[in-house]
Amino acid sequence: MTSPRRHPDRAGVFERDEHACRRCGATDDAADLRVHPVGTAVPERDDVDHAGDDVAVHESALVTVCASCLATLRAGPDASGPRSIADDELFSSIRATTQRQGAAISDVASLATVATALPGALESAADGSSTAGDGDEAADAVAAFVDARREVALALEGVDARLARLEGAEPEVSDGDESGGGDEEVDVGPHLAAFLETATALQADLRAVVELTETVANGVGLCHGCGEAFESSSADRCSVCGLERVGPAWPRDAGGADADGRHGTFESLCTTINARLTGTADRTEELTERTTALAEGLVARGAFA
Ligand SMILES: [Zn+2]
Ligand SMILES: [Zn+2]
Repeated sequence: MTSPRRHPDRAGVFERDEHACRRCGATDDAADLRVHPVGTAVPERDDVDHAGDDVAVHESALVTVCASCLATLRAGPDASGPRSIADDELFSSIRATTQRQGAAISDVASLATVATALPGALESAADGSSTAGDGDEAADAVAAFVDARREVALALEGVDARLARLEGAEPEVSDGDESGGGDEEVDVGPHLAAFLETATALQADLRAVVELTETVANGVGLCHGCGEAFESSSADRCSVCGLERVGPAWPRDAGGADADGRHGTFESLCTTINARLTGTADRTEELTERTTALAEGLVARGAFA
């Protein structure tokens, strides 16, 4: 008897992602496309081969990435301990990190928009008030949420990988090098630590918004990973992809006469999501200040002379 191991349809994942790396956009054969599981809540299964790309994870948690991006995502901190980083490399790495995190913020804002439209789309499809093909509208709304959430997971993971590398980086100690243009002795270490602290806090802010959007999906009875309906309102795990429920199903009156509980929950969730997004804007401002301080420190000691 053959193994019951479930092989995801890799070709299906490639097809869905239009045969392009979802991180850098590489499409050619040389990009060596793979499938990669994203999302912190991807269920651990004994039959998952984390070393390869032939993983038994539901396709909703798999993304197409090229070999180069996969290596970056999996790199993690240097096992050998802190590594010295040259000023120009530090600067370009900081810039790339803030750009990626900026993109992640946009992705999270899009996810929030899609998630808060979900209950309405499902409701108008259910009561037939929408004009277009009702089933299609609901299915499109669910698919948009699932896709947006997967994009966010990949974006956040990419930023995590960059931050982990920077955590293990040790800026060179300025030695008053006379050949350089800078003559100030500036220790950029504290600036880097401050930058990392804010960037890490921002990651947590963004993940909190993501979890709120997942609560919305669960509230209307859908799995936040694959978008399939939970088997029952009391099910704590998706029977299709295996994800655990993060929020309760909202009370739903059979006759639809008393939906107050559901609407009240949803409206307060929307308020919280918007407040959280506003909070990320404040954090971004702080991050910009800290990035500037770091860059100025590097310039003062002649990094770009
Ligand atoms: Zn790539
Ligand atoms: Zn699921």
